Amino acid sequence: MKVGYIGLGHMGGALAARLQLSQPLFVFDLRAANIEALTRLGATACQSNREVGEKSDIVLLSLQTSEQVREVIFGKDGLREGLARGTMIIDQTTGDANATRQMAKELETDGIELIDGPVSGGPPGAAAGTIAIMVGGTEVQFARAEPVLRMISSNVVHTGVLGTGQVIKLANNLLNAAQRLLTFEVMCLAVKNGATPQKTWEVMVKSSGRNFMLEHTFPKHILTGELAQGFTLGLMHKDVRLAQDLAAASDVPMFFGSTVLALYRDLANEFGRDGEVNLGVKLFERLSGATITPPGAHG
Ligand code: NAD
Repeated sequence: MKVGYIGLGHMGGALAARLQLSQPLFVFDLRAANIEALTRLGATACQSNREVGEKSDIVLLSLQTSEQVREVIFGKDGLREGLARGTMIIDQTTGDANATRQMAKELETDGIELIDGPVSGGPPGAAAGTIAIMVGGTEVQFARAEPVLRMISSNVVHTGVLGTGQVIKLANNLLNAAQRLLTFEVMCLAVKNGATPQKTWEVMVKSSGRNFMLEHTFPKHILTGELAQGFTLGLMHKDVRLAQDLAAASDVPMFFGSTVLALYRDLANEFGRDGEVNLGVKLFERLSGATITPPGAHG
């Protein structure tokens, strides 16, 4: 079996590096430096998305958005031009499930299968081989994709029909996005009223309000002031917006979600879409007048 990987940024680069440990890859990205990082590990560089398709039976993608996925597949020199009948694309993008379903339909006439397999756990989870991979597709498609995905992680779940991996990923990221900002808010409340960030964290991480943010991100990135974790405000805003779109399309209320969306829009405007996701703490510090990061904290 020949396997390709397209989109070798923060996330795709880490996923491809993990896969390359077990499976030689054909790779392409618009950025030469990202391709080089993989060829140094033994992967074979291609000159276009089409060439990755020509050389592969299964191609994995990790792009920023479903619009970029469409460009990679259907654009000039795209995957569709290279892939033969009977091949498969596994889209690891945190994308729009309805767009994925539409693209899968368009590929049917060419005999090319498209399934979704987004991830949660970030580049460290990929490097450790523990990243969560949620896969939407038929039983037969999952059985075909699973051996490749298990080379990346032991944590692979078949979530149901096509698109359900992306649906669950968006629901999860809305929860993460909300917890992150609510954690900043309650920390500012405690600190403004005389508690220290350290003691507030020590108590809350073992109390009923504990969450992923308190357990992992807060000690590693906020208390240390090393805000950067390789995930941008622009991508988080995109995920929350996609969750909102899904809600609108399916008549589900988003009381909290709409507030979270407005906050990430403001944060992306203030710090830039390429700004690190934890820069949100700066807004809460400024609005409250409380300081929870150490001097010199940077993203
Ligand atoms: P990124 O911007 O670092 O990487 C995207 C890569 O795609 C870039 O290297 C870019 O050059 C490449 N690309 C764009 N258009 C292309 C094209 N037409 N042909 C070939 N390559 C192209 O983004 P990222 O942080 O790696 O995120 C990728 C996806 O993973 C997103 O959907 C994101 O939401 C999701 N994700 C990211 C993280 C994280 O911690 N970074 C965690 C979970 C999920």
